[in-house]
Parts: sequence; structure tokens; C-alpha cells
Amino acid sequence: MNRETAWTRLLKEMAGFALPLAPAPETVLNGSFEEGEGSIPEDWHLAAGGLGVSTMWQTEGGVDGGRCLWISPKGGGASWYCRPIPISPGVEYVFSCAVKRKGNRHWAHACEISWIALVFLDAAGRPVRENPNNDQPLVQVRCRQTADWVEGWRCLVAPSQARSLQIGFRLVRGEPDLHDAHGFRRFWHGDIDTGEWWVDDVRIERMAVKVETSGGRLAIHVPQGVARLRIVDDAGHTFQPRGAFAYTHGGGCFHALREDVALGLPAGAYTVQAMRGFQRRPFTQRIEVQPGQDARIHVEMSRLVDWPRQGWYTGDHHNHLSFHGSTRYPLMTIDDVCRVAQGEGLDFLSFCGEIVDQHAYADWRDAGRPADAKPDGAYETTDFLCTVSHEVTQDLLGHVCLVNAPGHIAPGHPWWLAPTNAELVEGLRGRDSCATEGAVVMAHPYSGVTAENLFDVLADPSVTCLQRELPVDAALGYAHTMDFLAVEEPADLDLRFRDYFRLLDLGLRIGVSGASDAYADQGTEIVGSLCTVVKAEAFTLDAIAKAYRAQRTLTTNGPLLMFGANAACPGDTVTGPGLRLDAKAFSNWGLSRLEIILNGDVVADATPGPDGWARIQLETKAARSGWLVARCWGPGHCALNMQSTPEAQHAKQGQWAVTSPIYIVAPGKPIVPQREDVEYFLRWIDASCHAIRGRKAVLEGQGPFGPAMKDEHVQAALDLFQRARRVYEKML
Ligand SMILES: [Zn+2]
Repeated sequence: MNRETAWTRLLKEMAGFALPLAPAPETVLNGSFEEGEGSIPEDWHLAAGGLGVSTMWQTEGGVDGGRCLWISPKGGGASWYCRPIPISPGVEYVFSCAVKRKGNRHWAHACEISWIALVFLDAAGRPVRENPNNDQPLVQVRCRQTADWVEGWRCLVAPSQARSLQIGFRLVRGEPDLHDAHGFRRFWHGDIDTGEWWVDDVRIERMAVKVETSGGRLAIHVPQGVARLRIVDDAGHTFQPRGAFAYTHGGGCFHALREDVALGLPAGAYTVQAMRGFQRRPFTQRIEVQPGQDARIHVEMSRLVDWPRQGWYTGDHHNHLSFHGSTRYPLMTIDDVCRVAQGEGLDFLSFCGEIVDQHAYADWRDAGRPADAKPDGAYETTDFLCTVSHEVTQDLLGHVCLVNAPGHIAPGHPWWLAPTNAELVEGLRGRDSCATEGAVVMAHPYSGVTAENLFDVLADPSVTCLQRELPVDAALGYAHTMDFLAVEEPADLDLRFRDYFRLLDLGLRIGVSGASDAYADQGTEIVGSLCTVVKAEAFTLDAIAKAYRAQRTLTTNGPLLMFGANAACPGDTVTGPGLRLDAKAFSNWGLSRLEIILNGDVVADATPGPDGWARIQLETKAARSGWLVARCWGPGHCALNMQSTPEAQHAKQGQWAVTSPIYIVAPGKPIVPQREDVEYFLRWIDASCHAIRGRKAVLEGQGPFGPAMKDEHVQAALDLFQRARRVYEKML
């Protein structure tokens, strides 16, 4: 959604009617839709849309079984407005409403408009666009499905010239091009007309904290307004203020996205915790809340290290919004995700938008990034960058996350084999008109795989979402990093290390990365809890993507890890045999061990000293060309995302950090591939080819996308795998 175009469209529609001001200040008249007769609820105006086809005032099914509003793209969509509500300039309000949405994966994105308008009007009734807290007057609702009724909210500060607020709900059916150049329709999952949207209990309230008579108030000051917070009483109950994004992760934490947080609490003792990523010291303070009094806390989180200053930037390239439904925050925007990411200590986000989000971002980039036409997710501050990219979900061959994808992404249908990831990457190699740099990450490579079932799973055409293309793309140079810390079932880090070292032992080059795969709107996992740290030449998205390409990366879910050899950093190549190795590691949540691995063998290890840092300095010789990796681990902690390690290992090895290799060239001593390693990946490729051949039969009868797969697509995928097979055969 281009905000400039959207605003122009809104003005055009609002010029078509004028509603009388509501008599009561700061109150939505008939916000619960219970009052009225006939087919239109009292005090609401239907500005567009056919009653009965595109919208209805439903007599039942509302939040408490009562009446509610229903809108659907079926009849083309509809547009509702309330009477303007008198408000006071400068005051902060919370807009809220109950939302229920239901429909196929892409319906909300395919609608031409799906938004809530929160438009302040001046004394003359003219819409005011500027908002001092920088919130947007048009909230794109991209949520496709909620579990049931959920509360949607936005915090709004009334601008100085504002006198009233008009609230509108608008859905306009889209007409997506079936054969557009960017392949949007080919990715299409079913009919747009499946979408349904219910609205109830529309409210506007002052952002004032109500204090129960027996309770007091807790006020927390958060520097820059970004941090993960947790308030817990002695019985273990957690508390959140209004208008915060709460997550089950970390034992019930929240992101308030404001500098001053306040909430009413029953009198008693509380512990307030705060953290902002892994480079700052977590904060914790006990406080007593007294009846009728204010308890104040000033959060402080000092930096242990300043990686951005040294050119190391922390980010997440695998995160979603409203992707799989179960939405708890239906009005969350990509900009909100960015602010949560800042509170998690991230410096960048390569957001996995839906195709329409990525295309909106690419259009804006192509247009020279006009400041007044930013799409959602075009979010940049002096210390944070976001790009709207995409996760290509090629289910059989494996998912890949594109980092800062150039151009407009055109993947095939997730069930198909075409294009293969390699073909897609090949297409992206031609830079777009802005010379955008992109990188390719192998996402959740071992999903559902164990050392025991590996080859059976690879050969089974009905099992999807693992990375069959991993050794293929590694051999042919299409993959830059693989996600080492990833959300996978069953999590098996040992298997990943074993296979990764095998690839490196064959002389192939691929780096490590990690990403959260968080669904920011679901209120469960948090963006950045598994992350990638890159050494970039500049703080730009192009330089960050370049760093992924150069494998100047490490991944962590808690520990800080630094590693160098002969003054080179991960991803670089050094000339041996003489090696001066330097590694150190620390974790706010305790560290067990630091190791350096040379060509598969642990050549040095260390445990933390009295200051908590583990350090290794070593002079050694490499007997042959190869690679070096540093890794460290530590005990698990509930504040951290430990989904990369099996649950039984959480207590001892819940934390991990791993670097990409430093490659060693020892003159006259080349890498000699081992037959066992080569045969392992030949077997992998052969098992995958079995799955590719069987895929079409699995999809037969599965709707329009099964039979649409052509024999030539199967052949193209087989050809790709055979091309990689020949690379491995040559190593024998
Ligand atoms: Zn995926």
C-alpha cells in the first residue's frame, strides 16, 4: 500500500459525505452496533458497498453474542464511517475494536483496500494527515485469519489542529492480474471471495491508567522507548500495560514501544525485568506498589560491547506478519515489527513480506524512495534499517529467505517444482535498476529430519519443508548461508554440525546464519531471538546483503562471540600454515565453553574466567588447506529462544553461537575430499531425485495447482540436481 495514493483515495471518498458531529466527547456512538432499526446501525454511515452482498449488520455472532458488522469482498467490499467524535488536541488516545477475520491465505493482501481509517478532522471538518507520534491515519489490515474475536488497537496522539476523530472500516475487492509479469497470481492460493471481516465494540479512550481503589500505579521509563519488558509478581503472574505487544516467549514479556509505560497494579511486590538484545546487560529491579501511590522505575541497560561501532550488525532475515493466521494483533504493521526488533537489540530486519508487500517495497525503491510515499516496512532510523523481502516457500526443494531481494520476486506456487531455488536466484543475479544487492539463505534446512530418518525423508515426495537443495546449491554456488540456529522439529544441532563440516571438508563454501521465523502478530515467539550478526562495510542494506554473500557472519541465540585468525574474520581466507587464532565469548546468561575447530578437530577450548569471558589465543599450524570455525555454548534460560537444541539439552546447551568459517589455504597442501563425505551427498541427491520424480503423483487431484505441474518442470529440477551430482562425482 502506497501511503500517498491511499490518502488521496481516502480524501476522495470522504468528500462524498459529511456526518454530524457526535454529541458526546471521546465516545464512539453505538460502537457496539447494538442500537438502531432496519439494516443500518444507528450513527454509522455506509459510504460504499451493497448491503446484504458486501456487508451486513448482523443480528448475532458479535463479541458477546450480540450484533456486529460484517464486511466481505464478495460483493466488492464496503466502507463504513462513524460520526466524528469530539476530541482534545494533544491528548493521547487508544482506539480499539474487536476484530474477527477468516479467509484463505492471500485474500486480505489481494483486496485493493483493507484498512481502518483513523482520521483526525480540524475545526472546519477537513482531514488532518500529520500526526505528532508518527502513527499512520490509515492502518492496513493484512491479517487474514484470527483464532476468534481478538482486540485490535492503535495509540493516537491528537494533532494540535485536530478537533474530532472519524473512524472508518473499508474493504475493497481487488482484481489481481492472473498473468502479471511478477507472477503474483501464480502464487495464488484460492479465491479472494473467501474473505470475511467482522467488527464489534469500537472504542476510543484516553490513554489514562485506571487505578483500582486497592491498587497503585507502576510507571517505567524506558530509554528510547525500545526494550523487552516483563513485570512479574511473587506468585509468578505477569502483567502488561494497554497497547503493548505481549509475547508468551520469555515467560510473558511485552514490547510497549513507548518511553513511558504505566499501568495500574494491585498493591504488592513486583519484579521488573528488561533486556535489549544480547550486547546490553539485562535489567532487573524489585519494587513495592503501594495503594494510591506511584512506584517509579528507570530502566538502564548498559552496553557490554558495541558491535555496530566495529561494523558488526545484528539482524533477522526470517520473520513474518499475518502469514499463517492465528493472529492476536490484527492491526500490527511491519513498522511495528521493526520497533519490536529494535527493542530486541537488532540493527536490521530483512522482513519476509507477502509478495504484495515485497512488490510495494520494490516499486517504492524503483521510484527513488520518495519520502511521502513510503510503503509499510520502509522503516529506517539512524541505527536501524528494514527492507521488505520474501521467503520463497518452495515446499519440496526447500525454503529460502532472500536478504534484501533485488527487483520483484516471482516465485512459483509453493507446491510446484518450478522455478527451482537455483533458477530463482539466477534470475535475481541481474541487479535491478537500483543495483540492489541481495543474498540467499537456506531456511530451516533440517525440518523434520533426524540422523536416522534422513534418507527416507529426502526420498519421500509427500514430506516437505526441509532443504533438499542444500548440497546442490552449496556445490553450485547458489546459497550464501544456511540457517544453523533455526526453528525446526526435531531440533538436532549435532546433525547440522556433522553435515556442515562434511560440506566444508569437501572444499565447499557456505556460511552460517540464524533467524527466528517469528510470526510477530501471533504473540508467541519474538523477532530476533535467533539472529545473524554480519560484518558489513557500511550500515546499508546492500552492504549487509554483501556481508551475507561474503559469509562474514555468525549466529547466536544469546552468547557474544568474536573470532579471528591472522587478523582475518569469518568468511575471509587466510594463508597458512602458520595461524594466530584469537577468540572470545561471553553471555549474560552464563557460558559453558568456547571452542575452535580446525578441519573438524577441536584444537583449542576455554571456559569463562572470573569476568565471565572465555578467551583463546593460540599459535598453531594447519597441516593442510581447510577451515576454522569458532563455537560456544551455555546453559539455557527462559528469556532465550532455545528451539535449535533438543529439549533434553536445554539446561546445559540451550545457548549457542557459531561463526562462519575462516578458510585456510596452505600452499602445496590442498583439501583432499574423503570418499565417505562425497558418497553421503550423492546419496542425498539421489534420494531427493526420487522425491522429485514422485511429486507430480502426490499432487494429482489436489486442486488447480497439482496437475498444472509440467513434465518439463520435473526435468528441470532433475537436471539441476544432476548438475550438482557431477560436481560431487568429480571429487571421488
Ligand atoms: Zn519456511
